[in-house]
Amino acid sequence: CGIVGIVGNAPVSERMVEALKRLEYRGYDSAGIAVIEDGRIARRRAPGKLENLRAVVAESPVDGVTGIAHTRWATHGVPNEANAHPHIAGSVAVVHNGIIENFAELKAELIAAGAAFTSDTDTEVVARMLDHYRCAGMAPREAVLAMLARVTGAFALVILFEDRPDTLYVARFGPPLAVGYGDGEMFVGSDAIALAPFAHGISYLEDGDMAIVDRDGVEFCDFAGNPVSRRRQPLQLSS
Ligand code: GLU
Repeated sequence: CGIVGIVGNAPVSERMVEALKRLEYRGYDSAGIAVIEDGRIARRRAPGKLENLRAVVAESPVDGVTGIAHTRWATHGVPNEANAHPHIAGSVAVVHNGIIENFAELKAELIAAGAAFTSDTDTEVVARMLDHYRCAGMAPREAVLAMLARVTGAFALVILFEDRPDTLYVARFGPPLAVGYGDGEMFVGSDAIALAPFAHGISYLEDGDMAIVDRDGVEFCDFAGNPVSRRRQPLQLSS
């Protein structure tokens, strides 16, 4: 039930797990990370405590300067590794807090269009749909807006495209999500607690906001793609 994303200028795996640790109070049953490593999305996931994920990463290290991370509180599908986030479809990785209400209908549509699902989650429809739109030729921003026009329910989403290794696409409708401003690095997280060690400024997404985050900053828009502006507030450093 927590989300972290970093567009960094130094390795992010350890920092993401540290940030997930700060979100533990929200509760979770499994955890995972995905980073861009040598131009490809690389993922590690583990059911149970964050220590299990740490052990998996120690055993089989993975790192990069851009990544997304998640602690899951299962709503659809048992808490096992296959259902843990991030979910990957083709060259897209997704983490999600919340529930995609119309996932069954979307899943049926995507299967009819040839998609093969590998988890029992509602979340995987988001990844498969984005992959489908990208394969049909849509640019990342266009694909994310097209996906947002189809899903209903509650979501905080962070999306990583393999061919956009320096950018995170995020959206909120329901569960909290914020963008953190660091020194030449940008962050995304469920709350200020997760971002406090890294960022000195924070902007909260409002319901119906999409944001594109890269090392240079963030652009906010609504789900129709119209620009909106969100106040940047100071974030007090805490331990
Ligand atoms: N509904 C999603 C799942 O069951 C996300 C749960 C969450 O908020 O962590 O995988």
